[in-house]
Amino acid sequence: MLSNDQLSQWDRDFFFHPSTHLAQHARGETPNRIITGGSGVYIEDRDGNRLLDAFAGLYCVNVGYGRSEIAEAIAEQARKLAYYHAYVGHGTEASITLARMILERAPANMSKVYFGLSGSDANETNIKLVWYYNNVLGRPEKKKIISRWRGYHGSGLMTGSLTGLGLFHKKFDLPLAQVLHTEAPYYFRRDDLALGEAEFVAHCVAELEALIAAEGAGTIAAFIGEPALGTGGLVPPPEGYWAAIQEVLQRHDILLIADEVVSGFGRLGSMFGSTHYGIEPDIITIAKGLTSAYAPLSGSIISSKVWSVLEQGTDEFGPIGHGWTYSAHPIGAAAGIANLELVDSLGLVANAANTGAWFLAAMRDALGDHPHVGDIRGEGLLVAVEFVADRDTRTFFDPDRKVGPQIAAALVKRGVIARAMPQGDIIGFAPPLCITREEAAKVVDAMSGAVKDVLG
Ligand code: PLP
Repeated sequence: MLSNDQLSQWDRDFFFHPSTHLAQHARGETPNRIITGGSGVYIEDRDGNRLLDAFAGLYCVNVGYGRSEIAEAIAEQARKLAYYHAYVGHGTEASITLARMILERAPANMSKVYFGLSGSDANETNIKLVWYYNNVLGRPEKKKIISRWRGYHGSGLMTGSLTGLGLFHKKFDLPLAQVLHTEAPYYFRRDDLALGEAEFVAHCVAELEALIAAEGAGTIAAFIGEPALGTGGLVPPPEGYWAAIQEVLQRHDILLIADEVVSGFGRLGSMFGSTHYGIEPDIITIAKGLTSAYAPLSGSIISSKVWSVLEQGTDEFGPIGHGWTYSAHPIGAAAGIANLELVDSLGLVANAANTGAWFLAAMRDALGDHPHVGDIRGEGLLVAVEFVADRDTRTFFDPDRKVGPQIAAALVKRGVIARAMPQGDIIGFAPPLCITREEAAKVVDAMSGAVKDVLG
């Protein structure tokens, strides 16, 4: 076996890490934790540390680590048929079965599933389909896409543009011209502290209306949003937000894409975030929880309304010119089937609701009175603690103090992985949906200690 030092050096010499400070990493100034195994909510690293992963990787290992049912399903599929493509009407038993299972669980009025490999490529697909849809309907000028500041939809050319976080645009010549951004539904960070929640929702709606009026509804194809903001801060929407936004979109004939890459398959305590908040999307993006990341697989769930236009399009223009070699890869599909069966048999959606509610309440009990805790929020097993320099004036810390990353590092010392969210001093928790109350209590204890370590 290689020594850790050797592998660490190879890591710094040869491996291009995503979302990493490349220069610091190459110089050896950042940690390079090398993960070797996992079981349930725990992972182990090469130095022999066992850590409770309270962010489930990148909020994706929903059924937890080390599930042999999924490993066996993958191995069996690889032995029987590792690959066949899905072009020109071909399919595999696994991909067809998984499509049916997804539609059985999806909100009403959904018709078909297109499979990709990542959340980013699924959203690229969605935007292409929306453009195609409007071309088939004879409205070639209706093409712009509205996203929200702080939304996260991937890091491709279009999806990086949709993502409303500056880091993903800077020096990449993004966002592309067809993308517009509107107000984030982030009540705690409202500019005007005097606004109540209902007034803030009215403000978000007014901002959207103003953007549509300025651009012209005839130029706007779709609105994309996560049911609850994820990477932008883990923020459940303010009460009434989605109903009010949807009313505007319907009035202007703008399609709604619900990006459920995080919320799909139980994270918020319902099978889908759309049903959780009463959203009626035209397209739904899924990834992470579809296979619990045991294999890369994503999907675009297409409503009957959009599907009928796609069919009409191919009758007029020929086969749809869209597809990846690995679309509907049978190994990913086999992982997806075994994963969704586990989500059901282990009752993980209900556990996300129940343990999630307990976890949020326990976090509030532990830290709600701390002078530097500004907000503790969550839905299901998606929970955030946001820090402020001053609670009364809601003044934020200078980002250079790196309060969030320091607390995340203190948590690791106490055996827990959480995520310092990229914009703001926000510590995010999104553990595997199989987490127990006892394990959740360990996370709360570690968080109380870590906050004390850093902020007193
Ligand atoms: N959409 C949402 C809501 C996400 O959170 C993510 C990733 O975190 C993506 C899309 C992109 O998915 P991927 O990283 O698989 O491309």
